[in-house]
Amino acid sequence: MDEGEDAVRERVRRVWDRIGAACEAAGRDRDEVRLMPVSKLHTVQEIRAVHAALAEASGDAGRRAFGENRVQEIVAKTGQIAPDEGIDFTLIGHLQTNKVNTVVPLITEFQGLDSLRLAARLDRRLTELGRTLDVLVEVNTSGEPAKHGVALDEAFGFCEALADYETLDVKGLMTVAVNSPDEQRVAACFDALVDLRDRLRGQAMLGSTWCELSMGMSGDFPLAIAHGATTVRIGTALFGPRPAP
Ligand SMILES: *Cc1c(COP(=O)(O)O)cnc(C)c1O
Repeated sequence: MDEGEDAVRERVRRVWDRIGAACEAAGRDRDEVRLMPVSKLHTVQEIRAVHAALAEASGDAGRRAFGENRVQEIVAKTGQIAPDEGIDFTLIGHLQTNKVNTVVPLITEFQGLDSLRLAARLDRRLTELGRTLDVLVEVNTSGEPAKHGVALDEAFGFCEALADYETLDVKGLMTVAVNSPDEQRVAACFDALVDLRDRLRGQAMLGSTWCELSMGMSGDFPLAIAHGATTVRIGTALFGPRPAP
């Protein structure tokens, strides 16, 4: 088991260093980029190992949110992790409205808002609980039909409409870029998100700073940082390959 621990440390250190190098190359402050470890399909033991290795690499032993994309997995994992372990969960990606009531009490952030029906459901549940939730709007920047997210040409109006929901603390935007060896196509997805964020920022009445840009995964995070990502969501490069679901 301890032979695995060194491998985790090594992977985490490498990702940490690559983020630093990407920030430096882009002339950006390293503190501008948050690393969100994506733990879907990995065990609670693996999450603890990555959490410890990240604390060591970053020198920050504070709470950290791990990205998950299945409600049932969040339910199972939160049941096994004590609150004082410093491990929180963010739901990344699509959420079905019938799972809102279950998942909302278990997460600190949601990166994947893509319908007003879902916004209304979240708002209702949050009002019941007397709390707010940090939210990012998922935008389908590649236009691929298989991808979730608000269509790029509808995203501005969608974001405007969110001002009606006081429990949703909308922080910014999230996207999954096209998976392609062609860097220009990937970069075009990132630039589309930056452009949308800049247009939203020009509308002060929208009641959000629209500062967050969550983009970049294991295969494309240095490019995303070069294009302005403020959060990178990294699974495989930290945890190793995911087991089959
Ligand atoms: C799985 C997933 C990631 C992480 O993917 P890796 O390629 O393993 O880094 C990031 N974002 C979303 C939305 C995901 O579902």
